[in-house]
Amino acid sequence: MQTNSAKNTIVLLGIGHTNAHILKSWKMKPIDDCQLICVSNFPISTYSGMLPGVLAGQYPIESMEIDLVRLCASANVRLIIGDVTGIDREQNRIQFAERPDLSYDLLSIGVGSRPSFENIEIKSQQSVVSIKPMQTFKDRLNERIGQLHPEKEASIAIVGGGIGSIEVAFCLDRHLNSEQANSPSKVKLKLVAGKTGVGSGLLPSTRQLILDRCKDRSIEVIQGHRVKTIDADSLTLEDEKTVDADIVLWATNAVAPELLGRLDFEKDGRGFLATTSKLQTKTDGNVFAVGDSGTIEGTDLDKAGVYAVRQGPVLWENLQRAIQDRPLETYRPQTDYLKLINTADGRSIAQYKGRSFYSRWCWWLKDRIDSKFMAMYQNYEPMPMKATPVDPKSTEAMRCLGCGGKIGSEILSSVLSELDIAEHPSVIIGLKNPDDAAVVKTLDNQVTVTTDFFASPLNDPYLVGRIATLNSASDCFVMGAQPSAALALIQLPLQHAKTQLQTMRELMSGSVEELNRMNCAIVGGHSIEGPRLTAGFTVLGDQISDAKTKGMLNEGDALVMTKPLGSGVLLAALMQAQLSGHYYQELVDSMVQSNVIALELIRDHDVSAMTDVTGFGLAGHLKEMLVASGASAELWLDKVATLSGFDEMVEQGIESTLAPDNRVNASDYFLPSENINSPELAKLFDPQTGGGILLGIAQEKTAGLLHFLSENGFAKSAVVGTVVASERKPQILIKRV
Ligand SMILES: Cc1cc2nc3c(=O)[nH]c(=O)nc-3n(C[C@H](O)[C@H](O)[C@H](O)COP(=O)(O)OP(=O)(O)OC[C@H]3O[C@@H](n4cnc5c(N)ncnc54)[C@H](O)[C@@H]3O)c2cc1C
Repeated sequence: MQTNSAKNTIVLLGIGHTNAHILKSWKMKPIDDCQLICVSNFPISTYSGMLPGVLAGQYPIESMEIDLVRLCASANVRLIIGDVTGIDREQNRIQFAERPDLSYDLLSIGVGSRPSFENIEIKSQQSVVSIKPMQTFKDRLNERIGQLHPEKEASIAIVGGGIGSIEVAFCLDRHLNSEQANSPSKVKLKLVAGKTGVGSGLLPSTRQLILDRCKDRSIEVIQGHRVKTIDADSLTLEDEKTVDADIVLWATNAVAPELLGRLDFEKDGRGFLATTSKLQTKTDGNVFAVGDSGTIEGTDLDKAGVYAVRQGPVLWENLQRAIQDRPLETYRPQTDYLKLINTADGRSIAQYKGRSFYSRWCWWLKDRIDSKFMAMYQNYEPMPMKATPVDPKSTEAMRCLGCGGKIGSEILSSVLSELDIAEHPSVIIGLKNPDDAAVVKTLDNQVTVTTDFFASPLNDPYLVGRIATLNSASDCFVMGAQPSAALALIQLPLQHAKTQLQTMRELMSGSVEELNRMNCAIVGGHSIEGPRLTAGFTVLGDQISDAKTKGMLNEGDALVMTKPLGSGVLLAALMQAQLSGHYYQELVDSMVQSNVIALELIRDHDVSAMTDVTGFGLAGHLKEMLVASGASAELWLDKVATLSGFDEMVEQGIESTLAPDNRVNASDYFLPSENINSPELAKLFDPQTGGGILLGIAQEKTAGLLHFLSENGFAKSAVVGTVVASERKPQILIKRV
């Protein structure tokens, strides 16, 4: 968490060329009294200038990627990966499909553009591969290429006449000839450039160079008419001519992304947000629109990266000035800019100041410009955390401890009034009629009680709220109990009251979302201020099935693990800005996958014993089961699944600070010949946050159980070993299969 006394929140929506500059500048010198939050629809942002080169195999895919998870972690900036649905301008809040609103003081919208499909009848969606989202373009293209008949001649039409589509056409044949593409033996490429033709807006000499290169490369150029219809294996143009096309690669002129259409802001004719020359939207001075997403009044600029890049420093300056209530700077776009087209033959076509070139030095220049640009955003070295100096006379320094360290009552009451908290028949006195303590009644007087809390491993209170709730409830589930009432234990970081309110709102929204899902009422709790966000719950549960306790393993039982391991290592990597954005979502998805399934496993699948795997890691929790059951176990090392990225992070020497303790705790239970420090065994000692269930079940029932688990989203569930007789002391015998 950003634990400074941030009063103002700046949100960047879409981390493209301009907003990425803000993130980079922030990393070097954060703005006083502010927190920065990045919102993106992907954990990775891409650089279009290098996409064609990636296709041509001139660069690995990572060279065009800005890893937002790493960059934000290294800059101590919060990142939200989410689906934004709208903006509430009255309340200065961004709305999401599946998470609570986010408040902002200043917002910069830079969600780019998308190719236009206006007036196109798409009869075969399968044939279309849109250039956007760029993050998934190469995978989607390869998937579609893989669907083509390997022996039949195929046609690929690249639709669009701008620089992007021309470059893609030049680079595509190199891609098709590479092993990655798995393409048919013969593919014809066609550049379908619409009414205005190839390279409209470029000099005639540049256009001629492009046409000459197309001819050399046997790329058929079709221009003069727009595409009207897309069928499974052809396109129909407005003059009714048909063009064979098994794949239609769509890279037409830029129009506004769908999200902008949903915003109640003044727009230009193509749906982009109308701005002033200060980059502020004309509708709302607190909201900026940059890059392709904004159109400055009175200008008719190309939607090009060069403008977006040049807006970066102006936006950075203006965000600071806006916070300080100072007059803003004006952005003055350049009248002309260098255009470079990668021809994928060791050369490029260039146009600058009225002249056209086609040469090796043009490619050298393009490569240099692009590589230098990306290097600025691929430095994931963490910035040293600077403690915000606290004025000894400030109220911050004098914040009370003890009962005086409680969170202000307005924050709590404001948050609680916004939440839709489930009612539960067991609750007699709860938050609806709050008193000194809650009163709940229980079924048959048999109550399961558990408590758990942790310091936040993520820079996202909403996710922390969900994970903390699931973590605490998990102990009830594996004991065969249905949670009925919960008490929250929360420590909010020392922040400005406005920021604390936002943190509390997000945290409690996440918690209540999960509690409502499990039909459990929140009946009270305690919240204080402290150095870092910490959250947990005491949960009361109604015992609805006989508990399948740790000591109930039978000799011969199969040992099943429901989730992959590795969250400890991955979270440690995240904190060190080492976790790749490619691995982030799987980690989050795994941690927020509820263990409520334990109740069905007990009821319908006849499991013998179960426990949830948390802080002590698989080895520690298995040891507890074996000791309680008086048994030993064979553990099939290769069957123990891990989260993507785990092995890579272990290879880099990353581990959780708790892992060494876990090794010591379980070491006596391994054969002395096992090297428990070897990276091969790291997964066994990795502490889990939101870990899965470890259970024992009769061998003959495993097939049904695994089928049920995979049907219910536990795709990596597996039999990881078996329970064997214990000769003396229980032992964990590692088997490699
Ligand atoms: C193939 C190709 C090659 C190109 N080559 C050049 C070139 O050589 N030179 C040049 O000047 N221009 C080039 N362009 C144009 C250039 O890509 C754009 O003008 C530029 O990317 C605009 O930058 P931006 O920051 O506005 O948007 P983008 O770079 O597109 O960034 C927008 C970001 O917002 C994210 N986003 C989108 N929707 C949402 C949402 N709803 N919520 C959250 N996040 C969202 C996206 O994932 C993305 O990360 C090329 C375009 C293409 C297609």
